[in-house]
Amino acid sequence: MIILKIGGSILTEKDSAKPEVNFDNLNRVAKEIKDALYSDNFSHDLSDGLVFVHGAGSFGHPPAKKHKIGQPFKDEEYLDKRIGFAEIQNEVKKLNSIICDVFIQHGIPCVAIPPSAFVTTHNKRVYDFNLNLIKEYIKEGFVPVIYGDVVLDKDIKMAVISGDQVIQYIAKFLKSDRIVLGTDVDGVYTKNPKTHDDAVHIDKVSSIEDIESLESTTNVDVTGGMVGKVKELLELADLGIESEIIDANEVGAISKALQGMEVRGTKISKN
Ligand code: ADP
Repeated sequence: MIILKIGGSILTEKDSAKPEVNFDNLNRVAKEIKDALYSDNFSHDLSDGLVFVHGAGSFGHPPAKKHKIGQPFKDEEYLDKRIGFAEIQNEVKKLNSIICDVFIQHGIPCVAIPPSAFVTTHNKRVYDFNLNLIKEYIKEGFVPVIYGDVVLDKDIKMAVISGDQVIQYIAKFLKSDRIVLGTDVDGVYTKNPKTHDDAVHIDKVSSIEDIESLESTTNVDVTGGMVGKVKELLELADLGIESEIIDANEVGAISKALQGMEVRGTKISKN
């Protein structure tokens, strides 16, 4: 089973104050997935499982920040928090629906799986996440589409679950073979490459020590930014599940990576 995650930085205009889809990228991503699935090089068929995960981008991050979901709050703020939660849940669902529309137009048999409908967390980490339905959809050749969402939390009442945390959980318990994570940079650097000309590309991350110095350079969004991604993926590397972070803006990179071809990026692996 392969998990492909494409970040909100690709599928949305991430810096936009209002929710906005990047349709050029979305259409290209759909085409690249379709091309890979039906390519002769793809030693994989849909019943082996492809799970697609997407981030929330400008649909989720601005309202999550505004409503401070995931932070402690007073009892008298509870109504406002619930409205905020509802707003975010509704926005990310809209993004998901647009993504699924485009995937279906491209002939990808996708099915939306919203975490807010069945996942709970305990202090922001997954507590309850029933994978049975996802397994059934995979078995029947569907492509489950799961995404960053808001969820009920046993400890702090409401939390944001990132697409990156979703990947980690699914990969671990459905025993994914590998993970391809597409974002708007070609992997992990010693510093944020968007703001530092002297950032050096890291080809491979094998342990937490490799990224310790990165923490201060990362512009962290509510879900943890680049360091957050690598931390989630390192937990999988410990279980022998390899990931690669690639530049999903590079035309053809997603398709090649799905087919197991070499693409410039950062590998997260113990070996
Ligand atoms: P996505 O929305 O695709 O999940 P994010 O915006 O959360 O992606 O993370 C990708 C961003 O992380 C890049 O645009 C880059 O500016 C930033 N970034 C910060 N620090 C680093 C780093 N050390 N290496 C690579 N990218 C980094």
